[in-house]
Amino acid sequence: MRHQIDRGIQLIQFPGFHYANCNCLLLEDDLRCLIETGFDESELQVLIKSPPQLIINSHGHGDHCRYTHAFPEARVLMHPADRSIVESAKGYLKEFNFDSLLSPEWSEIFLQAMCYRPIESFEEMEDGQEICTGNITFQVLHMPGHCAGHCCFFFPEQGFVFTSDIEFSEFGPWYGMVHSSVADQLNSLDRLAAIGAEYYISGHGTPFIRDPEGQRLMAYRATVLERQRRVAALLYNGRSTIEEIARELPIYRRLPRPETIFWAYELMMVLNHLRFLEEQGYAGHDGDTWYPAKNLGTAKLSL
Ligand SMILES: [Zn+2]
Repeated sequence: MRHQIDRGIQLIQFPGFHYANCNCLLLEDDLRCLIETGFDESELQVLIKSPPQLIINSHGHGDHCRYTHAFPEARVLMHPADRSIVESAKGYLKEFNFDSLLSPEWSEIFLQAMCYRPIESFEEMEDGQEICTGNITFQVLHMPGHCAGHCCFFFPEQGFVFTSDIEFSEFGPWYGMVHSSVADQLNSLDRLAAIGAEYYISGHGTPFIRDPEGQRLMAYRATVLERQRRVAALLYNGRSTIEEIARELPIYRRLPRPETIFWAYELMMVLNHLRFLEEQGYAGHDGDTWYPAKNLGTAKLSL
């Protein structure tokens, strides 16, 4: 489904939430440019007839880079912090920690569900970089947290930010990779709020998000902090390993399906919350055993 959102800018919407698909932008300007390639097969057939000269992937996850390989003539831009996950399936699984958390069979199921295809080469983009396709100019915002290379795109003239996987769906904030970071996620949300865009275009689900009072963004942020408090409470009440804490499901409360994959996400996000507690001086660890670093009650945690 396409929406013309401004002169030369179309949204290619993928309704609902589905692995390996996302909402994408098509810029038909002097340069024909795609932001994201997670559209469906029918859009691929249309786009292949007039292929883009430039592809920009917000980050290296398979659902955002799905068909980048289908346009070998296009220049591809991406943030270099995601290089290891797009270069090889091995690197992708390692960054999810799936080489130790999942069986080889489940890792293969995951790669297939994400339609993983390596991207052989790309040009690096950086925070603040302006990209001009002719009449349209937009800015790269490096917004890590979800993963190390995650970027959003600010269109100042049109008043929106394409927020990619700061995605406002019921699925909630996700930061389950080795180089994901709770602190970075919170900082990125604060930075996004400070821009004061007229609206956001989310990478999944309902694309157009108007949030003039910032309530949606604050609710999204609050979800991260609620999880942080739950992880802290479990640690301060005697759970000392990632698995012991994750068993209480402080992230998802109820694991979505497939549970095997979401259990791995739960473990990784608990780990990232513990790291954040450690960065703040509230936790420490000795190998796999975590402990409260100070004798503080969770009520005193200022999160
Ligand atoms: Zn993602």
